[in-house]
Amino acid sequence: MKLKEKTEIKKVALAGNPNSGKSTIFNALTGGHAHVGNWPGVTVERKDGEFEYKGKTFIVTDLPGTYSLTSYSIDERIARDFIVKERPDVVVSIIDSTNIKRNLYHTISLIELGANVIIDLNMADILEQKKIKIDTKKMEELLGVPVVLTSGTKGFGLDELKNKIADYEDYKRMPFKVEYGDDIEKSIKNIEMMINGIKTKYSKRFLSIKLLEGDTEIIEELKDAGYEEAVDFALRETAKLEKKFSIDVETEIVEKRYGIIESIVHQCVSKKKTIEEKLSKSDRIDRVITNKWLGIPIFAFMMWLTFQLTFKAGGFIADYIDLFFGWVSSLSSDWLSMLGAPQWVSSLVSDGIIGGIGSVIVFLPNIMILFLILSFLEDVGYMARAAFIMDRIMHAIGLPGKAFIPMLLGFGCNVPAIMSARTISSERDRLLTILINPFMSCSARLPVYLLFTGIFFKRNQGLVIFSLYVFGILVAVLSARLFKSIIPKLKGPVSPLVMELPPYRLPSIKGVLIHMWERSSQFLKKAGTIIFAGVIIVWLLASFPLGVEYASSKSFIGQLGLFLAPLFKPAGFPFWQASVALLFGIIAKEIVVGTFGTLFGGSEKLSIALPKYFTQLSALSFMVMSLLYIPCIASIGVIYRETNSLKWTIFSVVYSILVGWVSAVIIYQIAIIIV
Ligand code: GDP
Ligand code: MG
Repeated sequence: MKLKEKTEIKKVALAGNPNSGKSTIFNALTGGHAHVGNWPGVTVERKDGEFEYKGKTFIVTDLPGTYSLTSYSIDERIARDFIVKERPDVVVSIIDSTNIKRNLYHTISLIELGANVIIDLNMADILEQKKIKIDTKKMEELLGVPVVLTSGTKGFGLDELKNKIADYEDYKRMPFKVEYGDDIEKSIKNIEMMINGIKTKYSKRFLSIKLLEGDTEIIEELKDAGYEEAVDFALRETAKLEKKFSIDVETEIVEKRYGIIESIVHQCVSKKKTIEEKLSKSDRIDRVITNKWLGIPIFAFMMWLTFQLTFKAGGFIADYIDLFFGWVSSLSSDWLSMLGAPQWVSSLVSDGIIGGIGSVIVFLPNIMILFLILSFLEDVGYMARAAFIMDRIMHAIGLPGKAFIPMLLGFGCNVPAIMSARTISSERDRLLTILINPFMSCSARLPVYLLFTGIFFKRNQGLVIFSLYVFGILVAVLSARLFKSIIPKLKGPVSPLVMELPPYRLPSIKGVLIHMWERSSQFLKKAGTIIFAGVIIVWLLASFPLGVEYASSKSFIGQLGLFLAPLFKPAGFPFWQASVALLFGIIAKEIVVGTFGTLFGGSEKLSIALPKYFTQLSALSFMVMSLLYIPCIASIGVIYRETNSLKWTIFSVVYSILVGWVSAVIIYQIAIIIV
């Protein structure tokens, strides 16, 4: 007789949708030797059995078939409780491969619940008939769990399944997480914080998501554990989100999961379509938009259009704001002299405050339009596609597909973009993504481009700005290649893209406007604080020492600029105003414009003053320098915080200064030869 103590006993649960073949697999594994009883407390049938393999005993439990793991029905509750409370060593997620989308929803729920999942793509025999191919390797990569193809009735794949069950401890699982979008993620974070000390078998993230979904059982459980406050908070959060974005939070969460599934299926399942199989609207749009050949040109066109709109429509409004500030400036100086205010006060108001801040605020409409379009593209579902379209390219150049999202966000602001790299699970890929992000042209650089192209490139303003963005991307990509090939820490294979592919839908105007405003108001806030402080410093330095002519080369700022200016001779702008604009632009890149505004006395005067210093060529090299030369202080701070390394932070700063300077010089020198 075999001694039970000698063999290890492992618990295996079979979970999945009804009719996915759980019982068939159960019988095939255990040889049909089932112990049939009832689940404690309920009359739902429970089947247990066992098999031996590789010297271990596996006790198998056939869970009730369910479509998800909420607590809507007894079956679902049994399945969930079993996984959470009995902690089976392995949960085999049995999938009807011919109905993979719906089945994967259950699998995702299992993974979210924190189970040790093995995916069993059952009914593999029918796949061939239906001309469906599933790339199991890819699926393993995307979901980070083992995947097996089986046929319960034909009996194939069962040994492999047993093998994977037996070796589950050796499998290196990758963390997998569904991202629910900024708004919901923020609420999840807040709830997680509130239930921080809780003792439970669920993960805090899982509990927080369930609270937002309004899961009654979890709500009760948390109330019993004395977390009424967190529950109330979550209910309020849900209500707040629903009101703010006119969405249903639960639906939103479910849709995000389906979005992820859509993306996984898109990447792993190929199907020869028969004529009578109708494609959904989203599928049909996707056929064009994510098409291998059309995808990238369409994306490029969209971006080009975005920038055209940004400056054309925005420029129209900006002209009026410009006039307005000019008017306010002359009015206030009239007033101040009428009141007998000293000269320096009127200079502070008209040069420093109105000139400096005004020259930046002028571009608010452009920035609002840029954010309006980006928010719209995001909410309509296009941005996620863009990441897919780019994924192929990203991989080809050795970048993780997920890095595209931080890169895209970088068009808005590098600070949240760098933080969003947290969703990249591989430490190596994350570091790389952070390091190249500052080259993505954030909206703070836009005023610089708008100012200079408005003066020097009137006829192809959109094209020049678009090219600058593309150039930033190019530098980011080339830097990534370079880092990967010479920095040992960054070498290695890239991780795959797991991202939702949401259905296309017309977004609510309210939602788009709110998203736009959230971002644009950041710009205004910045103008009122850091940019304000920056231009005041510039104004002070331009006014002192006492007795010098305002903003002359004899002022402090002039002397500082004169000291730096020779550095930029090879780049074509060897005058001190440009050097100090760049220097103060480190605080925030809008201050590049703000500095010129302060020094030359307001935005409407810039179009006369700047051509005295810049040529078309040096304007171009100056814009390139502004694009690349250094991340702003906030970005440097966030790079330090996210990498937690002074070394990488310094590296990023030094590298970008070098790249900026070298690029500006090369562009200027080449242009001189050509023109
Ligand atoms: P459960 O509800 O998940 O327990 O599913 P069952 O094991 O009862 O199977 C449902 C139906 O699918 C039954 O008619 C099975 O014979 C059939 N089935 C199970 N596995 C396979 C398979 O791999 N291939 C095919 N063609 N049919 C299968
Ligand atoms: Mg069954």
